Amino acid sequence: MADSNERLDQWLRDAHAMEQQAEQMLDAQARRIENYPDLKLRIEKHIEETRSQKQRLEACLEARGVSPSGMKDMAGQFTAIMQSVGGIFAGDEVVKGVLASYFFEHMEIASYRILASAAQNAGDAETARVCEEICREEEAMASWLFEHIPAITQEYLTREVVSPQEAKR
Ligand code: MG
Ligand code: FE
Repeated sequence: MADSNERLDQWLRDAHAMEQQAEQMLDAQARRIENYPDLKLRIEKHIEETRSQKQRLEACLEARGVSPSGMKDMAGQFTAIMQSVGGIFAGDEVVKGVLASYFFEHMEIASYRILASAAQNAGDAETARVCEEICREEEAMASWLFEHIPAITQEYLTREVVSPQEAKR
């Protein structure tokens, strides 16, 4: 049986692995996009946020005395799940890409909501604060996608008539 501190450490490592996956997905997506400049910019901004999130999680783990070697060994079950999710949704077109991103952001929102609560439970106020802060960044990204999905979809459909290849990216 894991106590609440061990559980928190484990979930923080899971979140770190999730961000690793997020960075790869977002990076692949941003590199692919050519004709949707606003989306590309927002994704690039979120890549920066994602890198910073990873660093903030590392700082939390370090403050909690989780060794760097322990942090490197994160090829857990969760990573496998995230990879399969990424694989299923790996969009060959921009609309599938925003679908995958919207899905992923909500996974992140739920994860940080859980983590903030677990950190509070373990009496780690700083980790709780960091997880709430990261949660707001994920919510902002999800809201941006929600607001822009209709325009991106319309643009895709309009372009597809003329040039399916250009519409895709
Ligand atoms: Mg994130
Ligand atoms: Fe995110």
